[in-house]
Amino acid sequence: MDMNTTLKIYNTLTKRTESFEPITKGYVGMYVCGPTVYSNAHLGNARTYVSFDIIYRYFLHLGYKVRYVRNITDAGHLEGDQDEGDDKFAKRAKLEQVEPMEIVQRYTVDFHEVLSHFNTLPPSIEPTATGHIIEQIEMTKKIIENGFAYEIDGTVYFDVEKFAKTHNYTILSNRNLDELLNNTRSLGGQDEKKGRLDFALWIKAKPEHLMKWPSPWGVGFPGWHIECSAMSTKYLGAEFDIHGGGMDLIPTHHTNEIAQNIACNHAQPAKFWMHTNMLTVNGQKMSKSLGNSFLPNELFSGNHELLEKGYSPMAVRFFMLQAHYRSTLDFSNEALQAAEKGLTRLFNASNKLSNINFHSSSTVQINDLREKLYEAMNEDFNTPMVIAHLFEGVKLINLLEEGKEKISAQDLDSFTKTFNTFLFEILGLKSEQTGSAEKIDELMEIILQIRSEAKARKDFTSSDEIRERLKSIGIEIKDNKEGTTFQVA
Ligand code: AMP
Ligand code: ZN
Repeated sequence: MDMNTTLKIYNTLTKRTESFEPITKGYVGMYVCGPTVYSNAHLGNARTYVSFDIIYRYFLHLGYKVRYVRNITDAGHLEGDQDEGDDKFAKRAKLEQVEPMEIVQRYTVDFHEVLSHFNTLPPSIEPTATGHIIEQIEMTKKIIENGFAYEIDGTVYFDVEKFAKTHNYTILSNRNLDELLNNTRSLGGQDEKKGRLDFALWIKAKPEHLMKWPSPWGVGFPGWHIECSAMSTKYLGAEFDIHGGGMDLIPTHHTNEIAQNIACNHAQPAKFWMHTNMLTVNGQKMSKSLGNSFLPNELFSGNHELLEKGYSPMAVRFFMLQAHYRSTLDFSNEALQAAEKGLTRLFNASNKLSNINFHSSSTVQINDLREKLYEAMNEDFNTPMVIAHLFEGVKLINLLEEGKEKISAQDLDSFTKTFNTFLFEILGLKSEQTGSAEKIDELMEIILQIRSEAKARKDFTSSDEIRERLKSIGIEIKDNKEGTTFQVA
């Protein structure tokens, strides 16, 4: 990749923007905390995963071999972040009178469906918490051996105060430990724990609990935080390049993950900690508990009181990319309608590119635009800036179309490649003009008619060109006695 700038990433761990250097040349290991599959994913969740999709896509574009691990939390996530309250799955299962694993299955499928609407690439590995109970038990055992956890009556707690004596427990959040201790008054109903900030690695199951496993400490289930430490270590090693999630995970979940990893592996797991900011509605975080969330399907259909109409998945994806991933993004109908228009302009411009005539030389500088696009992505994945530059590209395309500027064949080729690569491959936008199969049939009929007329005039150059160009887009045509047939790959 011939670029003048290197990729810079804002690192929550150091609170600085740093140049990205992979641990192993050519490879990137990235772990992103996945959803808790006890209810439908809302648009806020989708924003976080679309943000990491852009990051994943850009690394792939730069030629890295990426192992992207995004887990599914299907056990162990209690209602409170401090492991208090009911099991989220059991509560939902009881409410709906189904097995907890039915809940897990239903909402995992829903999550995948939602993300595929938004055209996100699937991760390389999608491990589940229930599939890694053994690894979580092993890690808990090691943490006890290393002196940073203790068992009381079948439950194992991480000893935060002991850990904090030799390590910076709040390194990620920068919160003051004493203040944190003073503000954490209750023991969250877990009277047996030694310290207020101690959190559970393994939780004793009550007899009525459905999702439970045997362990050295009796029958129970893992705490929420240990699953990510266990699965990231298993698939990416004790030290890897990037760990990500939403900003709301910084103070508890990611803080505890770092402590667990250090206590077990003697290593802070990720070189870069990346956090996406929240999708808000009237300035408030979108969340299920606040009752201001809506589901992607409601957004697509417009069937919600906050929505003036339905919006297509790509318009919504584009709306998300118009804000930097570290800024909040406030939902509004006006912003979505503006996004719809903007996206149409980009797609139209991309279509126009194939009809532009080239000249012997260019009156425009296309390398500047290419440089600017890479510079924007290299500045901590600055998608709003990328979009602004693509709109400059649109202006240029219009000038070329009107004949007010000229472009050489070579420049046109390179400009088309750059424009489309950023629009489709890196930003992951795709045209939603869903041409039905019938329309394809009709179109092919027209094309094959023109070809047979060319053959009839003995214009074999044209007829061969039609065949070759169709082949290059995956449509194979065959001439036989009855006429010509085609097959779409
Ligand atoms: P959960 O299913 O609650 O574990 O959340 C899954 C992911 O979505 C986490 O990384 C959260 O940080 C993220 N998330 C939750 N609410 C929002 C929001 N309003 N905007 C952006 N990300 C969110
Ligand atoms: Zn996690």
